[in-house]
This record gives sequence, structure tokens and C-alpha cells, in this order.
Amino acid sequence: MRPEVRFYQKELETMPRDQIRELQLTKLKKLIAYVYERVPFYKERLDSVGMTPEKFKSLDDLKEIPYTTKEDIRDHYPFGLFAVPTGDLVRIHASSGTTGKPTVVGYTKGDLDTWSDLVARLAVAAGATEQDIAQICFGYGLFTGALGLHYGLEKIGATVIPASSGNTEKQLMLMQDLGTSLIVATPSYALYMSEVARDLGKTKDDFKIRLGLLGSEGCTPEMREKLEEAWGMFVTDNYGMSELFGPGVAGECVFRCGHHIAEDHYIPEVIDPKTGESLNEGEKGELVFTTLSKEAFPLLRYRTRDLSTLDYSPCACGRTMARMAKVNDRADNMLKIKGVNVFPSQIESVLLTIEQISPNYQIVLTSKNYMDQLEVRVEVIDSTLLERFAELEALQQNVRHKLHTVLGIDAKVTLLSPRSIERTAGKAKRIVDQRGKNTI
Ligand code: ZN
Repeated sequence: MRPEVRFYQKELETMPRDQIRELQLTKLKKLIAYVYERVPFYKERLDSVGMTPEKFKSLDDLKEIPYTTKEDIRDHYPFGLFAVPTGDLVRIHASSGTTGKPTVVGYTKGDLDTWSDLVARLAVAAGATEQDIAQICFGYGLFTGALGLHYGLEKIGATVIPASSGNTEKQLMLMQDLGTSLIVATPSYALYMSEVARDLGKTKDDFKIRLGLLGSEGCTPEMREKLEEAWGMFVTDNYGMSELFGPGVAGECVFRCGHHIAEDHYIPEVIDPKTGESLNEGEKGELVFTTLSKEAFPLLRYRTRDLSTLDYSPCACGRTMARMAKVNDRADNMLKIKGVNVFPSQIESVLLTIEQISPNYQIVLTSKNYMDQLEVRVEVIDSTLLERFAELEALQQNVRHKLHTVLGIDAKVTLLSPRSIERTAGKAKRIVDQRGKNTI
């Protein structure tokens, strides 16, 4: 089922490490001069540490430069960090912020070209070819996922169906009638589509889906297995964020042993999120990226808040580009429950190992007597189980016990009938945090 090893830009993707570093340094020197001249924020930042384009000599000099944070972007809303006048932009995207204004990102014509090459690279690395019929089930709009994949897949010559998200029965009809071979969706929506297909009396053999480029929400190995089984497809994951163009920063090759970072366009670093100190290869910390090719909205040492590790060892596919470990735990997703750090991916991994329950779940947080309460709601696969009290109770105990072993805290487990948790066409609403409303 694993697709063949393919390349989109083989020479670049398999470049020897010393050449990667040489190319990075050449591009970085240009970038420093570029932002020094064009972005007052960066001129100030560079001046504050006594760095000028003339003084910048080696890749190590990058470590002298202060980090750029999401707050810096927010403070300069909407165009304050842009290096080109708005007249030079050909596209604007935005990502929703948790508070108030969105993060606005812009692209020149050259940026769109680079970006689609980056996405083309990740699609081909995952096994996509010009023969594929690719259905994009991400919502189109300000979000970078749909249009990013759209242009990248067109660039390799695949046939793109811009189905967007929602209207699941129509999605399935298009898939079947047009012979869709590749889907782009969130893992939870890909799973939901398979449920609806089953309801309509269809099996995976009624479709030709062979490849899933899934993203925009976490996907544990257990979830990936369920999806591969449901569709008979090979699933890969990729990494990106709108501040760094969107998808295309890194992606899995067919060996799925980490995401190859496009190091000719980004310099990755891993730092201690608390102290800001640089960490070594293999040490887990916060990912930081410097963009080497962006024209409209370049970023120096941008803190992503995503936790990962870097691996520079050679990969079986022949790519020399460093690999970052899959990000399951976005720092922003971490929940603090009863003082314990909990990642939703930990809960998902536990739930998916238990046969009688489905991969649809919800984490509900409430507060009682000023104490956090964790409830995990999950659907059983067989609805008749709900009538067999002893079995139900045993299952409940089992889930509770397993969660306790992994999380170290007690959770209330509620078993629900199949399909009782709401499905969405985008990111699943896994977490309901009602702790602001304290009930005594
Ligand atoms: Zn590889």
C-alpha cells in the first residue's frame, strides 16, 4: 500500500548537507539586509543587539537575533511586519486568533510561486502523481489549507476538485462518480465521510481513494490506522502554518518517519520554551523557523509554540532535508487539569485502543467547588451494549482505568450511543471547556 518514492525537485531535496548550509547562509544574508532596510520592526530588533547586515557572517550569527512571537505580529496588525507595500500583494490570508483580531498574512506573486512549489513537494513526497484526482474537502476561505493544497496539487498536474467542506453526501457522490483518488481533509472529517458512506450502503471498494493528505488537526497513529482501514488509503501528514505561508513547511515522505523540512526555504531550530535556550538535535522543545524565501512577510526566528524534535540523519527515501517529529502536541492545545498537563492526543490514543468504542469523543471540562472535573464522552460502536448494564459498566471502568494510567488523573467516563456527538466538516470540536462557569 506504500506508494513509490518520488521527488518533485530531486536536486534540491537530496542536496548534501554542506550545500544546504551554504545555500541557507547565502539566502539568510540577503534576508537580513532585506528586512533591515524594509521592516522598521526588524531594523530596531537588529540594532538592539548590535547586528547589521555587514556584521552578519555565519549561520551561527542567527542565534544573536531575538525571537519573533505571535504577539509581535499582533502588535503590528495588520501590515506592520510586511516588507512590501500592499500594492505588491496578490493574496491575503488570515488565521483566526483566540482573542480579537486575526493574524493577517500576505503574498507577492513570487511568494505564491514558492508556496505552491513547497506544497507540490510535500504532495509528491507523500506519493501523489499527475494522474491523481484530488478532492479538497477543506473549507475554502481565509484559511491557508484549501488554497495551499489546491495550487500545489495543480502544479504537479493532478486534477483538483475544489469541493470545499460540508455537504457530505454530495462529496461522496463526486468521489464515486469522478473517481477521486486523493482526498485532502481533516482526519475527523475523513472519518465522518466514511461513516456516511457506510450509512448509504457503500464500502471502500465503491471508491478509488488511495491517498489521504490529511491535516489541520492532530492525528494519532491509532486514528491514522482507523482511517486507512476505513478508506483503504495511505495517509500522510504535513506541517505548516499561515505565518510561514501555510502547508508546505514540512511533510512526511512515504516512510513516514518524521516530516522533511524544506530547509532551502526555512531554517529550523528547537529551543527550550521556558528559557529560550537552543536545544540540540533530538531534544524536544519549541520549534522556531526563519523564512528564507518569503518576500511579503518574512520572519526571523519565529516561535511556533509547537513542540517537536529535529533529526538530521539520512532517510530511506534519499532526502537529505532534516526531519521534525510529528507535532501532536501543539503547546496551545495543552490543557491544565487539576494542575496536571494533559494533551488531547493522549486521551485519543487511549480511547482508540479500546475496541468497543468509536473514534468520536469529546473532552468536557467543568469546575465544581473550584476543582477541575474531567469528563470524557465517547460513543460505543454497538448501540445494544447500552442495554447490557454489566458489560457497559465493565467497559466504563476499563476506559477510566486506562485514562488514569496515562494521565495520572481521574476522569468521569460517559458512554454514548453511536452518532450522538456532533460531526463537523472542519476541525472537530473535541474540547468543551466550561470551567469559567463555576458551579458549587
Ligand atoms: Zn524520507
